[in-house]
Parts: sequence; C-alpha cells; structure tokens
Amino acid sequence: MNEGATPAKGFDDLLAANQAFAARFTLGGFDGIAHRGVAVVTCMDSRIDPLRMLGLSPGDAKIFRNPGGRVTANALEALVLGVHLLGVERILIVPHTRCAMASNTEAELRERVGASAGQDASWQGFHVIDNQHEALLADVRAVRSHPLIGDQVAVGGFMYDVDTGLLDQVV
Ligand SMILES: [Zn+2]
Repeated sequence: MNEGATPAKGFDDLLAANQAFAARFTLGGFDGIAHRGVAVVTCMDSRIDPLRMLGLSPGDAKIFRNPGGRVTANALEALVLGVHLLGVERILIVPHTRCAMASNTEAELRERVGASAGQDASWQGFHVIDNQHEALLADVRAVRSHPLIGDQVAVGGFMYDVDTGLLDQVV
C-alpha cells in the first residue's frame, strides 16, 4: 500500500467530505436506470474517470470495474441485469494503456504483494493479461455471444490511453 497520502488510516477526512457533498446533494429521487443506456466495463485504475471520459453524469450509465477491466462471470451478470432491467443498450469494454495487470506476470505480482504484506502471497491468484488486444477481442466476443445479451445491444471494445484521455475503438 502507498503510505503518506493521508496521515491517518481512519475515515474522518472522507466522512467530512461526505457531509459537504450531502449538503449540496442533488442526485436524490433517481431510479436505477442507465438514462443514457450505457454500461462500461473498465479497470479499477485510479486514472480512469469512466463517466467524465464519455461526457456522462451520475444516472447515465452502469459502471463495472475490476483489475484489468475484464469481462468476468461477475461482469456478465451485471451486464445481463443492465440490459434487461436497467435500460442498457450500449456496452463499452474499456481496458487501458499502462495497466498493471498487463505489464506484470503473475509471479511478479505475487512477489510484490508478498513483499508489501510481509508474508507469502504465492497462493493468491491474479488474472494477469498476456495480450491486451486478444483479451479485449475475447471479452467482446464473450458479451456478444452471451445468450441473454447477444444482438440486443451494441457492444464495443476500446483502449483508453491514460496519457491522452483518448478512447480508441478496437472492435
Ligand atoms: Zn488497469
């Protein structure tokens, strides 16, 4: 973990910020529908702002994030719900440049986590990505071929450049 960004490990700073947020809260009374019909599967990377990079606002889209922005079983579960119950008509799969999941081997990640944890981490699995391009094609295929998603929605695969903010449609 990174040390030094915040002095305490408590949540006081965040709860204080939440008080200010709630004081000018305008998002009440929303339903859970994706009002722009968009779902995004992307990486947990802190450099990615999934709504703003697409010109969207809270309420517009369903966002599913995990390390690498992969279409996992959980992601498919979320997309099925999104398509059938929450107004999703367009699905964007968005991995990104300089992703740790694509630039480390599983052994390297285990070693780094083990060093941070001060204990053996060789039992912890990480779904590292050997080839981002091929993984993206496979992930888009997994969504398009899902029997409950299929042709009902538009599905696109995009690479997000964390240095320029640009999305490049790959498929
Ligand atoms: Zn990433």
